[in-house]
Amino acid sequence: MPELPEVETIRRQLAEKIVGKTINQIEILAPKIFIGEVKTAIGAKVVGVGRVAKVLRILLSNGNALLAHFKLNGQFFWRGPGDDSPARFTCVIFHFTDGSRLLFNDSRKFGWIKAMENFSEESAAAIEPFCPDFNLKNFFAVLAKSRRPVKLVLMDQEKIGGIGNIYANEALFAARISPFRPANSLSVNEAEKLRNAIVKILQKAIDCRGSSGKDEWYRQLDGSPGGYQNHFLVYQKNGQKCPRCGDPITRQNQAGRGTFYCPACQI
Ligand SMILES: [Zn+2]
Repeated sequence: MPELPEVETIRRQLAEKIVGKTINQIEILAPKIFIGEVKTAIGAKVVGVGRVAKVLRILLSNGNALLAHFKLNGQFFWRGPGDDSPARFTCVIFHFTDGSRLLFNDSRKFGWIKAMENFSEESAAAIEPFCPDFNLKNFFAVLAKSRRPVKLVLMDQEKIGGIGNIYANEALFAARISPFRPANSLSVNEAEKLRNAIVKILQKAIDCRGSSGKDEWYRQLDGSPGGYQNHFLVYQKNGQKCPRCGDPITRQNQAGRGTFYCPACQI
């Protein structure tokens, strides 16, 4: 599933391509994906592209907005005027007045696009990396309130926005913290290390334009893969040597997801 760095990469690339363009048609090939009224967006100009956690917000000149979530397999692909190169699993096509198109593809159809009238930006309930409220005080307070394993708290979108399975695994490894530790057992010092690891890793992943690991459907707007999978230290590395201590990296099922960690140096 695309996480903060992947959605942020698409946000930046979308902003370059569609801000200033006018939507003149929306073609819906999979009705389940598109929620709301098409007329909400027809004839409107795109004035900005935002993101909160893993949700994209395409802001329109008429005060309405289109929100999009990739869920497991969703993708946005861009097609310039005259570019009719094929795409698979296309569910929704946005046509712009200059002849360019934006395709939303989703092989499993868990993703969604919501047309929202009179959209106002409410403040998010979760704290979010790269926002001022993701400070040590707030982060430690979130951890201190939960006895659940720290990895599950990192991935809880109601507590912290944007972190999923890839970056939770990588950040816990970098901070040398076991994914199975109760969140409220972390010291302030450990919470600080973890917070810093999260920010550093997410920033590097954005710089690499996201991760397209094994079994991941994430692609950039032009269809090319991201690059951060080449920097994974533990994710999908089970059986390989820990880059820090040399012991084997282990994969264990945790709440239905694969947890990758080094039992020797994550305590
Ligand atoms: Zn190790």
